[in-house]
Amino acid sequence: MKKHAIIPIFIPHIGCPNDCVFCNQKKITAKINPPSKEDIVDIIERNLKTIINRNIETIEIAFFGGSFTGIPLDEQISYLSIAKKYKDEGFINKIHLSTRPDYIDDKILTNLKEHSVDIIELGVQSFDEDVLRLSGRGHNAQVVYSSSKLIKEYGFELGLQLMIGLPGDSYEKDIYSANEAVKIGPSIARLYPTIIIYDTALYDMYKKGSYTPLSADEAVKNTKDMYKILKNAGINVIRIGLKSTDYINENGQVTGGTYHPAFRQLVESELAKEHLENQLLKSQINNSKINFVSNSKCFSYMIGNNKSNKIYFKEKYPNFSFKFKVNPNLKDDEYLLL
Ligand code: SF4
Repeated sequence: MKKHAIIPIFIPHIGCPNDCVFCNQKKITAKINPPSKEDIVDIIERNLKTIINRNIETIEIAFFGGSFTGIPLDEQISYLSIAKKYKDEGFINKIHLSTRPDYIDDKILTNLKEHSVDIIELGVQSFDEDVLRLSGRGHNAQVVYSSSKLIKEYGFELGLQLMIGLPGDSYEKDIYSANEAVKIGPSIARLYPTIIIYDTALYDMYKKGSYTPLSADEAVKNTKDMYKILKNAGINVIRIGLKSTDYINENGQVTGGTYHPAFRQLVESELAKEHLENQLLKSQINNSKINFVSNSKCFSYMIGNNKSNKIYFKEKYPNFSFKFKVNPNLKDDEYLLL
């Protein structure tokens, strides 16, 4: 049974006064009209037809794309009223939206409460002041703490989104950001390695040589170590890396950075490799035949993307012969050496 289905509704942030260097929303929203009430109903109805009677535990309507609480209040109310009606009638279970940390106050949260919103995700990106400044975010880190606190006090489920590899970022700053996120204690998180999209200030910086994206290996390593910190703190990391549909892919808008269609697979595989190698190094195994074991769900992570982990162990430890096996009794993320 699929546990969770999301009905995504893209709300472009027309007139966003901010200039985040990685964002091409201004270019996008110049060409896209915000959805009308009829459009919203149509999107929901079309999605519900494909979901209903499929025994799905939780159905969410998710407003994403810009900074939902930055649009005028009457527009927020107009969109939220539609979602609330579907929730009140039992067709969906949750209403979910994402916004900026500095677009949160009592008035905004009271309105969201009145419209039965459940989950608020904040696009934090980094807790480092220099990274925020160089990325043109237009807010400081302090507002993340105060807004998160307020969101939790109002009883919403909190999500935090962090980016990896923004201008001025470093491995140490990424780890700091993950640890600060843990201190706040969101229930969900997303990790997005920075990608360079055409028509953005970041693209210009990249062309001029004032911004160098992380290498693919660096992005995987930084993300993996942040993921470990969040996961060990019991935070559900619901996404790692952008989906191709998370941005408007107009004739292939991504030009650089660390976009990979299976970025989560790369990170999970790296983590599986780390678990197995730690056990291998600690073990006193005399036998040259090693079995690496996981459950079937995590087996592809254990093998690695394009068998990268299989190849890694074979090349690095030529005196051992490795077999990769499934044991259905193991828990997710449990990788054993036998
Ligand atoms: S990322 Fe959000 S806040 Fe920043 S410019 Fe784009 S729409 Fe505006």
